[in-house]
Amino acid sequence: MDNSLLKQYYVNLGVSESVYDYCCDIEDILSERFKEIDKIAELNQVKVIKAMQDAKFSEAHLNGTTGYGYNDAGREAIEEVYAKVFGTEDALVRQQITCGTHALTIALSANLRPGDEILSPVGDVYDTLQGVIGVREQKGSLSEFGITYRQVNLLPNGDFDFEGIKAAINPATKLIEIQRSKGYDVRPSLSVARIARLIKFVKEIKPDVICMVDNCYGEFVETEEPSQYGADMVVGSLIKNPGGGLAPIGGYICGTKECIENCAYRLTSPGLGKEVGASLNVTRLIAQGLFLAPTVTASALKGAIFAANLYERLGFKTIPNATETRADIIQAVEFNDPEKVIAFCEGIQAAAPVDSFVTPVPWAMPGYDSDVIMAAGAFISGASIELSADAPIKEPYAVYFQGGLTYQHAKYGIMMSLQRLVDKNLVELN
Ligand SMILES: *Cc1c(COP(=O)(O)O)cnc(C)c1O
Repeated sequence: MDNSLLKQYYVNLGVSESVYDYCCDIEDILSERFKEIDKIAELNQVKVIKAMQDAKFSEAHLNGTTGYGYNDAGREAIEEVYAKVFGTEDALVRQQITCGTHALTIALSANLRPGDEILSPVGDVYDTLQGVIGVREQKGSLSEFGITYRQVNLLPNGDFDFEGIKAAINPATKLIEIQRSKGYDVRPSLSVARIARLIKFVKEIKPDVICMVDNCYGEFVETEEPSQYGADMVVGSLIKNPGGGLAPIGGYICGTKECIENCAYRLTSPGLGKEVGASLNVTRLIAQGLFLAPTVTASALKGAIFAANLYERLGFKTIPNATETRADIIQAVEFNDPEKVIAFCEGIQAAAPVDSFVTPVPWAMPGYDSDVIMAAGAFISGASIELSADAPIKEPYAVYFQGGLTYQHAKYGIMMSLQRLVDKNLVELN
């Protein structure tokens, strides 16, 4: 294809020729890396199709139910498909699960009783879970119900503190909470292989402990999931990776029969469990989203790798760095300068298909101790599998960004972020 035509289209979209050329040079060196990601996506695509075929997913399943939702065949088929994809005995996949935090709250509160203890062997849990568990004081937290919490931090080099973990496990330890993605923390995200090693270690000490993985942002990044290595539950949000950008709401919990039964009793009611929960008209979107999720996740990963290579070349610290193996779709760039963070987010917003004309500005947000800037122009409100960026306006002035339903959009967004930085004379193309 004539590349000059594409360049002309980008110029019309606000990308200068010099920024475009600079970005093309970066893209050229990534083709081998992108091929590997395509292979992972292919494997996961085949895995999802096989699960749908084995569950005899059918046209009739695309129709929903109303009211109580008894005998909702589509909902049951989706749950069977999820269980097959994640390699578990059972699954709870519901639009009545409002977000990832809610799914994790159900998984915890359903499987813990007064006197039980949660152990996080990977340091701090995700911000919203601190309130759920009661690490941060919060009305209604698990600590109000007599559930205690302990954590063991990773060692300074990022390794597990195996001795510390062994010492922390005690007769009350009931559930191990393992967060796969670093989220907004500075620790490394965990590969499935590392999670597998951790689960094996913990189960050798206490075989009946429940290992729960907060799987948010990690789904389909690798060819296997932690549930294939002894995790009793994996938990996540449908407006992240597994919803493929189509699921308009929802969460999932895949795991052992017993854990999932407990979760269903907590989500609906003891005794009712999985039998109720009308799917309305959402089953088709959840199914089609799961079908697209492997390639959508691959697109987001390619965007993250493109950004890491681009901004590292420009002299900034990127986490993960340009060449590291990925364990999730989140990319951080440290700018050490609030102006650069703002310019970056403006560029991402300007490239959005929705609300491209809006200018993001830093603002005080509940639960944050500094102003926060957020760039998102998404079809699904708040969906972070769509191209989005956010940054707390404080040291080290790092921007976290993720998503991109297509690689082409992620690339355009990242080019626009650089364009803003260039226009404001905040970086020079070296
Ligand atoms: C997104 C996320 C959650 C849950 O977040 P919600 O915004 O409630 O969906 C939990 N843990 C991690 C690591 C996450 O990335």
